Amino acid sequence: MRASQFHIATLKEAPADAEVVSHRLMLRAGMIKKLSAGIYTYMPMGLRVIQKVERIVREEMNRAGAIELTMPIVQPAELWQETGRFDKMGPELLRIRDRHQRDFVIQPTSEEVITDIARQDLRSYKQLPKNFYQIQTKFRDERRPRFGLMRGREFIMKDAYSFDRDAAGAQRSYQIMAQAYRRIFDRFGLRYRAVAADSGAIGGDLSEEFQVIAATGEDAIVYCPTSDYAANLEKAEALPPAGPRPAPTQPLTKTPTPGRSTCAEVAELLGVPLSRTVKSIVLATDEINERDEIVATRLWLLLLRGDHDMNEVKVGKLPGLELGFRFATEAEILEHFGCRPGYLGPVGLRRPVTVVADREVAVMADWICGANEVDHHYTGVNWGRDLPEPDRVADIRNVVAGDPSPDGKGMLAIERGIEVGHVFYLGTKYSRAMNATFLDEDGKPKPFEMGCYGIGITRLPAAAIEQNHDERGIIWPDAIAPFTVVICPIGMDRSAAVREAAERLHDELAAQGVDVILDDRGERPGAMFADWELIGVPHRVTLGERGLKDGLVEYQHRRDTQATPVPLANIVAWLR
Ligand code: ATP
Ligand code: MG
Ligand code: MG
Ligand code: MG
Repeated sequence: MRASQFHIATLKEAPADAEVVSHRLMLRAGMIKKLSAGIYTYMPMGLRVIQKVERIVREEMNRAGAIELTMPIVQPAELWQETGRFDKMGPELLRIRDRHQRDFVIQPTSEEVITDIARQDLRSYKQLPKNFYQIQTKFRDERRPRFGLMRGREFIMKDAYSFDRDAAGAQRSYQIMAQAYRRIFDRFGLRYRAVAADSGAIGGDLSEEFQVIAATGEDAIVYCPTSDYAANLEKAEALPPAGPRPAPTQPLTKTPTPGRSTCAEVAELLGVPLSRTVKSIVLATDEINERDEIVATRLWLLLLRGDHDMNEVKVGKLPGLELGFRFATEAEILEHFGCRPGYLGPVGLRRPVTVVADREVAVMADWICGANEVDHHYTGVNWGRDLPEPDRVADIRNVVAGDPSPDGKGMLAIERGIEVGHVFYLGTKYSRAMNATFLDEDGKPKPFEMGCYGIGITRLPAAAIEQNHDERGIIWPDAIAPFTVVICPIGMDRSAAVREAAERLHDELAAQGVDVILDDRGERPGAMFADWELIGVPHRVTLGERGLKDGLVEYQHRRDTQATPVPLANIVAWLR
């Protein structure tokens, strides 16, 4: 490829609304262009990355025995009504109406359509197992589309669906996919972790997320460095099933607690056991994690209902707050964050209100916490798990780094991740709802045992950048780089020797199947290097007249701080 014949459109600055580094760099590198909130054009440079991601996914899905098809983006509402999801899915599901006033949806995922196909085509146990997949555009009307391709409204997902005779078969299909996912994510060349995820209503352990490790990730991963234990935060925190919420025995009351600020002091004053006062912090957010905001906001609403002085609920930003701190007293919190009293927490809060994160948080009645006023605490605080999804109190951070890991093999650690893949055992949820059956060996109809398996194709490049970048730009792993090698000739327009050597090298590498681009735009070296460092091509070869006189070119990996002279005669072998 010659740069003059490609479309290179880098920007000095990213628009101000691009908050995270991957979003900024993808815009600046000319990989994506915004059309509307959460809706992007994949520009030629970005499309090359996406296609490489797709190719790896396709190869490994095929290797694992999955069969590719493509289902429609626009799907009739009737199918979605069969499973009840037309109503249940809420505003994330984009509904449209055609000229005959018929309802349709834009697929956010495709369980209904694939189950409809299965009930038509898979009639006998002899045709099972089957696993169908597509790599196709999805639409989810996300509450907060943001971070560019990371959380788009329109995005590309690989979604696969397995059909089996029985639960044992479905679990085998699930394991085959879980293995294929490991191969896929190994090939991307990223640091990732497969973590147990909550399998919701289905129960059991057959749901795993594949999380790319990145400090800016929206998810938190709890793992044990000395064992195989790894789970996402919801799963790690999974609380006992919600029992009936205990009836409060006291009304919510603002009680004067003059001069008392620590839990122990308040407990003593009010004559209640210490376990009913607040012990550790869950409040506050780094403002990156939407879930934290939701949880903290909800807790505030719950805590402060009835408090008519509080007309604004806002979540405080605490620099340096990380998961896993456990504080015994409010004073410790203040000290840790170096705050004066009155700084912490939502607007109007004069004293840090810490919220209990004990494991029995699910059933909390008659607790005490700080009030929105100096020298006052609330008594009779109640909250529980009977909150609507997804604002579950189960999201409260009650897992703390340093706690013993559930497998007893070490201590827990916590890090942030980006969910790029998800494998899920579904059981017969969809097949029963849609009456999708096959005839088993005994001649009786049975519902399919299913699994579903997603990969965020367009989220993956964003996750890769969050993990691999520096102040100059992106650093792609070879496997998904838009080009693996860039040739930068210096003074190509003046020197026939440089032109000839650059073109010969380009042709030779291209002939060997190397994904190479020759920058023949005639840019000054500084601007040329800056462009390729921003775009993140991992390998660069620079040719200049002076070096060529000695038969030398310069090689520099995107992570190297210096170029290495390499004989022109050896450079092809060097790059391979
Ligand atoms: P999230 O928790 O980030 O909202 P999800 O759990 O809703 O994701 P799944 O239904 O499991 O997503 O979909 C499979 C994969 O599709 C996810 O693992 C993720 O990589 C990708 N994905 C989901 N939503 C988006 C989005 N809005 N933009 C880009 N990719 C997405
Ligand atoms: Mg989602
Ligand atoms: Mg998720
Ligand atoms: Mg998921």
